[in-house]
Amino acid sequence: MAHIMDEFYMRLALGVAKDGAGLTGSNPNVGCVIVLNGKIIACERTADGGRPHAEYKAVETAFESFDGIEGCDVYVTLEPCAHISERGPNCSDVMLDIKPARVIVAMQDPDPRTAGNGIKKMQEAGIIVEVGLLGAEAADIIKDFTARFDKA
Ligand SMILES: [Zn+2]
Repeated sequence: MAHIMDEFYMRLALGVAKDGAGLTGSNPNVGCVIVLNGKIIACERTADGGRPHAEYKAVETAFESFDGIEGCDVYVTLEPCAHISERGPNCSDVMLDIKPARVIVAMQDPDPRTAGNGIKKMQEAGIIVEVGLLGAEAADIIKDFTARFDKA
């Protein structure tokens, strides 16, 4: 079920994603907002150079103030990644660890290594995953990243 504040939080995530434009190397600039009990407890973007990813950073920030954030809502401008990288944990596994109630995803990852696998993994773990909120805006932010896969 969509909540009345969802669009507000996603716009915040999109805004912080835009701040990372051109700074995240070969990785897409992503924004992530975490809300717990109606309060924003983290608002982060993909770090300069592309790592850590936005979701990982947001979870780190949240854990600076909370021992656990089970039941939170996570707003992320791009599907949490599902592929294994030597450069860090994948964000869909991070989502499983924190046990959110919902993960609201603006758009599916165009990277064929994830491309729906992160969404599927979270859903199979019992997390409510909603995809597509403000998806056009999210797609516009990472259109150069997406274009790389169109050529492939
Ligand atoms: Zn990731």
